[in-house]
Amino acid sequence: MSSHPVVAIVGSGPIGAAYARVVLERNPSARVVMFEAGPQLTEVPGESVRNIADPDAKARARELSQGPQAGTHRESLGIPAAVVVEGMFTARQGTHLFDFGGAGSAHTHGFPAAAASTNVGGQGAHWTCAIPRPSGGEKVDFIDDAEWDELIEAAEQLLHAQSAAFADSPIGGAIRFLLAEEFAELPESSRPSTLPVAGDPQPDGSIRWTGTDTVLGPLIDPGSPLSTRFDLRDLSFVRAVVHNGHRASGVVVEDLRTGTTTTLDADAVIIAADAFRSPQLLWASGIRPAALGRYLTEHPVVISTVAVDAEKMLRFVTEGDLDRELARRSTNPTDPVAAVNRIPYTEGEHPFSLQVMYAESPPFQLDPAHPHADNRWGYVNMGYGLRKHPRVEDGATFTDAELDYRGMPNFTIDYELTDRELAEVDEATTLLRRAGSALGTFVAEPRLLPNGSSLHYQGTMRMGAADDGTSVADPYSRVWGFENLIVGGNALIPTATSMNPTLMSMAIAVRGARRLAAELGA
Ligand code: FAD
Repeated sequence: MSSHPVVAIVGSGPIGAAYARVVLERNPSARVVMFEAGPQLTEVPGESVRNIADPDAKARARELSQGPQAGTHRESLGIPAAVVVEGMFTARQGTHLFDFGGAGSAHTHGFPAAAASTNVGGQGAHWTCAIPRPSGGEKVDFIDDAEWDELIEAAEQLLHAQSAAFADSPIGGAIRFLLAEEFAELPESSRPSTLPVAGDPQPDGSIRWTGTDTVLGPLIDPGSPLSTRFDLRDLSFVRAVVHNGHRASGVVVEDLRTGTTTTLDADAVIIAADAFRSPQLLWASGIRPAALGRYLTEHPVVISTVAVDAEKMLRFVTEGDLDRELARRSTNPTDPVAAVNRIPYTEGEHPFSLQVMYAESPPFQLDPAHPHADNRWGYVNMGYGLRKHPRVEDGATFTDAELDYRGMPNFTIDYELTDRELAEVDEATTLLRRAGSALGTFVAEPRLLPNGSSLHYQGTMRMGAADDGTSVADPYSRVWGFENLIVGGNALIPTATSMNPTLMSMAIAVRGARRLAAELGA
């Protein structure tokens, strides 16, 4: 080990950022080089696109993140033009489909909405910032509760967690009362409450949403000595990990601006390049454990939108409360979210996470002639997140016989909901009808989104207590059999979960990063 160990990080999303921060803060001699395939979108690297006030700048930042679906910007991102085909469509803003249908597209069977972001900050520049804690069987059983709680707290600090965001919104409070009344049978641990989010409340009542800029913190503050040991390189695509079967010694990187390929020698390599591209990179590097890409889970999501009913709200708040809330919100027109609530998961009793976002406008264009268009009391967008139980059959299969648009081994995702999940979908749909009716009138009926829509892909590099062929990484996130090759991200989560996964993945990353920092110093 050199006296100034170099750590190469692949991917600049929240998890890569957490590794960089923890390693540099804990190891005073380490240097981190972070490689990101996509472009830097904002002056401050990794800022949430939701914080951009100018609508045109926001739209451009989102399009630049869309990799092969980045429209007119695509060629400037080092992506060949041949991938564009007629009828190509874009996934959620800021993301691009893996199965986009053009040359070099991945293939999906039963998982059509699989998508990613390719930009500095990764999906963390576009995310909703909901960070509930995992509970019960959602957690991994080989990290004890005391350590787990401390790791979660460390992750919450990195993300600037707010447990009571918008708690003073009277409308948000009335929504909680109405839901509590409707679901009086639920246990205390599933009482309606404010949804924990990642961000910093502003004096005007809005939130500055957390991106990876927040996680990187002092690493991107030119005034901090830590920034001199951190190097973030955008438009830099890592093609392979260099290794000898038990130690990684560097990464092969293509500079997408110039097309030149170089090798960076490193004392440790961290791959945090999302739940499909991380295993793809391992496969491309000849690292192919049996569980790689398998055990894919996500959250089946049942959603709907409801126009909030004045009569129901007036039981708890006044017209004056609404006037004040509307006046406050009009000072920050760029962010439509005005209150965030939830009904959390309880093991055995409520195996769902309900997210209730209150906004002034619906998330889609409502026909002006619709009886609930321009609803003065606003709208709630509600989604039940469900568990998908891990099965080896679900997942990505990689092949050397076909290359993707980047010239990497292509992959096919196979995925299916079983009767167990379909029964829970029915249950969640019934609950969503109750929740919606308690608050107002449906303007979008409850429906199950296409598989892949959650963007919470887990399990494809799962961590495990033993190297028994059902996991890719050890309890410290090291690829089995490797001393210094670490993987990060939602792909490590081995359990069936219903909560948004980033907080849990960051807690797992903090554990891996602390261990690495100590080993590098040894
Ligand atoms: P990512 O953020 O996906 O970052 C991976 C990065 O690696 C990408 O930038 C990619 O370009 C880069 N990369 C890939 N391959 C290579 C390579 N070979 N070389 C170099 N770079 C590479 N989660 C929640 O917990 N709560 C939410 O409310 C929530 N809402 C979401 C809403 C939206 C619209 C989206 C898009 C996501 C949401 N998520 C949410 C998911 C959340 O953003 C992810 O869990 C999180 O970003 C994962 O972090 P990561 O660092 O593992 O990966």
